[in-house]
Amino acid sequence: AADQELDARISVCRACPRLVAWREEVATSKRAAFADQPYWGRPVPALGPPDAPVVIVGLAPAAHGANRTGRNFTGDRSGDWLFAALHRAGYASQPESWAAGDGLTLDGVRIIAPVRCAPPQNKPTTAEKQTCAPWLDADLARSAPFVRSIMCLGAIGWDATIAGVRHAGWEVPRPKPQFGHGSRAVLRTPEGREVELVGCYHVSQHNTQTGRLTEAMLDEVIGSL
Ligand code: SF4
Repeated sequence: AADQELDARISVCRACPRLVAWREEVATSKRAAFADQPYWGRPVPALGPPDAPVVIVGLAPAAHGANRTGRNFTGDRSGDWLFAALHRAGYASQPESWAAGDGLTLDGVRIIAPVRCAPPQNKPTTAEKQTCAPWLDADLARSAPFVRSIMCLGAIGWDATIAGVRHAGWEVPRPKPQFGHGSRAVLRTPEGREVELVGCYHVSQHNTQTGRLTEAMLDEVIGSL
């Protein structure tokens, strides 16, 4: 019930005027290919079981992906890559996810966006990242008793996660660990439990189409969680 209550509170957040305007404009104007579909057009909650030992922190919903379907990475090219890899590793029930009712279930993994609303050009401002940080803090607190590894897709998720766990009183190595593909750091919860922070290039088309991130590279990181 606490899980649903938090998601309900997040789903009506309107704290970032620019993002609220953009998410709703996209949801009204739509892309021609999806003209017959309703768009979610609101903040996107975490996807996957709250007690998952693996947490994936992305960036923000895609305008015509999660902003349309209401589920992180569902319905866009980044999701095609991520869900295929999660399926190969046994975390996802199917290799693709295109709509809210497509039957996908995640086992052992939870996917969180540190910025919950689709930003123009996929670029949230510093202020928007800070405004959304309490929602990430709340989600990380929910995962804290169960999580073993936190995989961050890109530097924004990495930095947001480090800031979030610091707020929660976790020990983070100093100097601050730097993001890179395959970079790792050991965090410690206030109870003294170790949680591994793992960096992975984002599954955006910018990375997957240029070969900066290959399937083998993604599989290797996911296989190490
Ligand atoms: Fe609220 Fe986060 Fe969306 Fe801003 S990005 S409106 S803080 S849910």
